[in-house]
Amino acid sequence: MASLMSLGIKMVKKNLRKSVLITGVTGQDGAFLSKFLLDKGYKVFGTLRRGASPKTDRLKQMQILDKIVFVPLEITEFSNVIQILSDVRPDFIYNLAAQSFVVDSFRHPIITNQTNYVGVLNILESIRVLKLDTKLFQPSTSEMYGDQRDPIINEESNVNPSNPYGLSKYSALQAVKIYRETYNIRASSAIMFNHESELRGKEFVTRKITYQLAQLKLMAGPSLQLGNLSASRDWGYAPDYVKAISLIMHADTSDDFVVATNTLNSVRRFFTLAAQNIGFDPQFEGKGLKEICYDKKSGKILCQVKSDFFRDPDMKGLRGDFSKIQESLGWMPSTSFEELVRIMAFSDLKSFEK
Ligand code: GDP
Repeated sequence: MASLMSLGIKMVKKNLRKSVLITGVTGQDGAFLSKFLLDKGYKVFGTLRRGASPKTDRLKQMQILDKIVFVPLEITEFSNVIQILSDVRPDFIYNLAAQSFVVDSFRHPIITNQTNYVGVLNILESIRVLKLDTKLFQPSTSEMYGDQRDPIINEESNVNPSNPYGLSKYSALQAVKIYRETYNIRASSAIMFNHESELRGKEFVTRKITYQLAQLKLMAGPSLQLGNLSASRDWGYAPDYVKAISLIMHADTSDDFVVATNTLNSVRRFFTLAAQNIGFDPQFEGKGLKEICYDKKSGKILCQVKSDFFRDPDMKGLRGDFSKIQESLGWMPSTSFEELVRIMAFSDLKSFEK
């Protein structure tokens, strides 16, 4: 089986200029990145977790499902990782596989750390042992910073993770740094702040809002139940962040960069803009757990606050100072917050209209 698979991969690799291996290829960033790299002529290998039924909807939506060569991989298993890297020998690895939902990281702290931290350690060790010339990209997160006095974060800010997800990603960032400095492995990290899109998972608040509001408008679904409406995040548009990833990967020197918009917006503001884009006239009323939002035109209740969706602790809003990547690689976000909400709202409206 292993040798047959090796043979298959070698045949696919024949005559290719550059190949990339993307773990987490079925996720939001995996789908945008695959499309971006396929358009640039790369051969894209995407890993799928052994045994799990693959969630390929995003790849289908991007019309690239048949263009990706899928390889089975359990990232937490060293022998499997080294076998796949030895077979594929990609020029670039984008390690996007992660358990990235903060709430689930409290429910499954061990799996979160095995996937997010041990996973990248397995890749780094494999590159070292196999002496591969592969470049590695590792996504990191603003969730590493937890509570901070200074709400503006740059690459020098102190970390203070307040959930297992942030802890796992901090460990991964440090592992990348140690392997880069000790073994000269060409590995870089992007400290990415929240990035959203029409492909975002529906458990995240932005997509939960646009999806359920579109449903409410066109299918008379139930009103939304949300947590802390005053929570704020530095929200960017995922395809902009994929461009940053590509620039980081092709930079002459491997390094770590903050990728963000340096702008904070609240859940309430996201909700208001989304509701307006979807055709409601939102009006908030009440305070705390009694706060509701209704549509002035129809009187329909659009959302209610529910304690179930509050987090304790919840990270307070932090802004990412992206001047390092702007100055050294010329990247800056090109999609405004208003445009991001519009794209997401219209995409969900369109899908329900269908
Ligand atoms: P995160 O920043 O990676 O945790 O992204 P989320 O989209 O899950 O959460 C962003 C912020 O929205 C957090 O401060 C949440 O507490 C807040 N929030 C408020 N209501 C909700 C909700 O109903 N679902 C989620 N996921 N977050 C909510």
